[in-house]
Amino acid sequence: MSKNLCPNCGKKRILAKTWQEKVFLYGKVSVIEHREMICPDKNCQKKIEKETEMREEKSRQIKKDKEERDSAHRSKMVNLRFGRAKKEPFN
Ligand SMILES: [Zn+2]
Repeated sequence: MSKNLCPNCGKKRILAKTWQEKVFLYGKVSVIEHREMICPDKNCQKKIEKETEMREEKSRQIKKDKEERDSAHRSKMVNLRFGRAKKEPFN
């Protein structure tokens, strides 16, 4: 499974930890097993963690931007409806 290879250096990842989570679903308890796979290369793993963090931060920012754009877009649409938009060809 390619999921078990480090996306950064291609080394086979090792199991860092497993934990179980109990979820209450449809009236019964199920146990979900989580596995955390890490790169055996400490420096590489550090880099990955940093990248993951940055990616999460970025997606948070994108989501925030999108929400702001959406509300800006809505107010712009109101202006468009009243014929303020005039399309001009490039060049
Ligand atoms: Zn790696």
